[in-house]
Amino acid sequence: MAALNGEVAAGLGEHVGSLQPIAWHEARSSYDVVIVGGGGHGLATAYYLATRHGITNVAVLEADYIASGNTGRNTTIIRANYGIPEAIRFYHHSLKLYEALESETGAAIFHRRKGILWLAHTEMAMRTERGRCLMNQALGVETELIGPAEVRRLVPQIDLTGSGRYPVLGASHHLEGATARHDRVAWTFAAGATERGVHILQHRPVTGLLRDGGRVVGVETAAGPIQAGIVLSAVGGRVTELAAHAGVRLPVRTHPLHAFVTNDFAQGLEKIVASTELACYVSQTERGQMLIGAEFDSQPSYSRLSSFDALRSYAYKITRILPFLRDMRILRTWAGSCDISVDFSPIMGFTGVDGFLVTTGWGTWGFEAIPAGGEAMAELIATGRTPNLIAPFALDRFRQDLALADQGSAGTR
Ligand SMILES: Cc1cc2nc3c(=O)[nH]c(=O)nc-3n(C[C@H](O)[C@H](O)[C@H](O)COP(=O)(O)OP(=O)(O)OC[C@H]3O[C@@H](n4cnc5c(N)ncnc54)[C@H](O)[C@@H]3O)c2cc1C
Repeated sequence: MAALNGEVAAGLGEHVGSLQPIAWHEARSSYDVVIVGGGGHGLATAYYLATRHGITNVAVLEADYIASGNTGRNTTIIRANYGIPEAIRFYHHSLKLYEALESETGAAIFHRRKGILWLAHTEMAMRTERGRCLMNQALGVETELIGPAEVRRLVPQIDLTGSGRYPVLGASHHLEGATARHDRVAWTFAAGATERGVHILQHRPVTGLLRDGGRVVGVETAAGPIQAGIVLSAVGGRVTELAAHAGVRLPVRTHPLHAFVTNDFAQGLEKIVASTELACYVSQTERGQMLIGAEFDSQPSYSRLSSFDALRSYAYKITRILPFLRDMRILRTWAGSCDISVDFSPIMGFTGVDGFLVTTGWGTWGFEAIPAGGEAMAELIATGRTPNLIAPFALDRFRQDLALADQGSAGTR
């Protein structure tokens, strides 16, 4: 792809850069590694296999076009303000990889450090946020507890009374919170992988898995079978279907998650603002639109249709704390299918079936995990050993009663 045109580039300041073209290939009948799913996690794994381990006999099979799933539908927030050490370490590493991704690849992903405020409306929530700050700081993550006056200074538009019902008692301020363009992240990993010889096959849904005894040895597609030394499932919300072909039952349910944007507005909302109690958040895009998200639908479903109920509920919540949003128009709304695990933490690695691996359970916050998830899965595939960083997220944890419950940090429940 050519460098950004002048008009767009002019508004992007330090983000100016170019994206490398994706090299498209004809499918081979066999690969060392087949990755099912061309979302961020599948593409990042392919990129790190090629760049860190020199493994390039790899194919990424995507049912639709790359990033057509949750990776191209998310609200682009990157953060590491989790509540348990295992998650803080993992997501902070990912955040750092994101910060370096533009210089590593030379591509503009429009990464921007903004800072996130997690508002507290009750004494109990303040206690939780205080604990989060201490835990984050102990692990080198920049998160500070602030009072209402500082909240107001950072977000002048806020109604500290919460419309009289959700008073803002303070917040944890995660200074390293950031945003990056989701489709550019996917494209950057795709280009970096194909440049080194990885194949990306779009519009190639995997319909089944090839088995040889207990081992998975490839995939079925409408265009014929493809043999593989390793098959990695990176199919987002479709994971239970694919894993079933390997006889693997995962503690994952798929739930819709919605988002919407408003019309453009003068730049001025510098921070990402979230409330875990109201379970909603907002940030302002480069174009000036307000990008709003909230909690996932409680009813499991594969539907990606927007619903008026979700829109009404999200709009109600966010306008309690930022009343100026009431005057704005809703421009667009959409939904994705999130793979939510029972403990709200991701599941990465071996499945108990030889030749079949998963990266799943990314739920409502897997965009921020793409670089670290891809890097770790690539190392696991290349070495056959689980990297320490992701060892706590193994599927086996459920059998061992070592669940990593951190629902509060999911923020959107
Ligand atoms: C509305 C919304 C807002 C969000 N906001 C944020 C946020 O602000 N920050 C954050 O960190 N996370 C956020 N998330 C979550 C984040 O988007 C996901 O966790 C992340 O993108 C998951 O990436 P993935 O690669 O695992 O899955 P996906 O991006 O969904 O990719 C999976 C791919 O697999 C393909 N596929 C499925 N089945 C098959 C098959 N049988 N054969 C071949 N291909 C197949 C799909 O077409 C898809 O392209 C949000 C999600 C949504 C929906």
